[in-house]
Amino acid sequence: MKTYSIATIPGDGIGKEVVPAGQQVLEALAKTSSTFRFEFENFDWGGDYYRQHGVMMPADGLDAIRNKDAILFGSAGDPHIPDHITLWGLRLKICQGFDQYANVRPTRILSGIDAPLKRCKPEDLNWVIVRENSEGEYSGVGGRVHQGHPIEAATDVSMMTRAGVERIMRFAFKLAQSRPRKLLTVITKSNAQRHAMVMWDEIALQISKEFPDVTWDKELVDASTARMINKPQTLDTIVATNLHADILSDLAAALAGSLGIAPTGNIDPEHRYPSMFEPIHGSAFDIMGKGLANPVGTFWSVVMLLEHLGEFDAAKQVMSAIEQVTANPKLHTGDLGGKATTVQVTQAVCELLTAGAQRKAA
Ligand code: ATP
Repeated sequence: MKTYSIATIPGDGIGKEVVPAGQQVLEALAKTSSTFRFEFENFDWGGDYYRQHGVMMPADGLDAIRNKDAILFGSAGDPHIPDHITLWGLRLKICQGFDQYANVRPTRILSGIDAPLKRCKPEDLNWVIVRENSEGEYSGVGGRVHQGHPIEAATDVSMMTRAGVERIMRFAFKLAQSRPRKLLTVITKSNAQRHAMVMWDEIALQISKEFPDVTWDKELVDASTARMINKPQTLDTIVATNLHADILSDLAAALAGSLGIAPTGNIDPEHRYPSMFEPIHGSAFDIMGKGLANPVGTFWSVVMLLEHLGEFDAAKQVMSAIEQVTANPKLHTGDLGGKATTVQVTQAVCELLTAGAQRKAA
């Protein structure tokens, strides 16, 4: 029996509700398996930790989770702490510390979800957005001088390296190659940004030669927003810089029906360090503590976590349970226009997993 050790970091706001729900789903799944089990360790890092200790996570925090097989993360964000502290002090510290350079965001319109694009059939929108997650606009390079004076100046430098662009392009082409349509769109802005984005385009062309069976095209980031809405079926795998993909993937999540559904993985494709899986929504303090958070984004993140561990059958079981639940409007939470609670949705998914295993055994 294989044991996977999982770090859970609920973080702030509804993260504290959806991460325990995700853990429950993994536990329900493990009960049905004779080949693997999970061992969980919970870390109380985030806004409350910051109030007590002045930091979002301890200085040696990365060492505490370095040897885990994966991390299930909730959200970082607190109305009383500046966003750049909550983000850089926890989530980005882990992403950068573990060189999780590929951020992967699948988007689909799940069964039963009323998505806003009325002309779009559910099968027209089936994308995976690959976001460069280690450099670019969020590299942290820059500075601020003469604060408060009229001559105050500030820079955020978008830093791109050949090694960084090559590895994300290779990852994106490989992912596109593994999907049925073998189709990749490279998002760019090389008309206006004439240094780093030109290198980005050149490297895309260079890496494309390694994947002759992948059809690919280039699209300016501004034009891609219109294409996502007007011709969603022309897209499949999409690769973009840190900032561009950050924005496009929120648009994608909205087009698929709700922020509460969308998952993401911060992945170290080389498996040198644990990868981290999380719903894309934030801490949502407006609904925190009320039991109203939609846990589906976390459950889909659990699917990605299982795929990363190589447990593909288990991942399929969880995805199928999720889709059976979203297909039932009685199990829709408030963000989907329903009245269901986090607990009800979680119980329904767990029961489906148990029932599925019993059917298989019979
Ligand atoms: P942060 O500042 O941490 O990014 P936020 O509250 O500004 O968080 P989000 O949490 O990403 O932003 O989402 C915006 C709104 O969408 C929330 O205020 C909430 O009403 C709704 N929402 C987001 N996620 C969920 C969810 N899982 N279930 C239900 N509603 C959600």
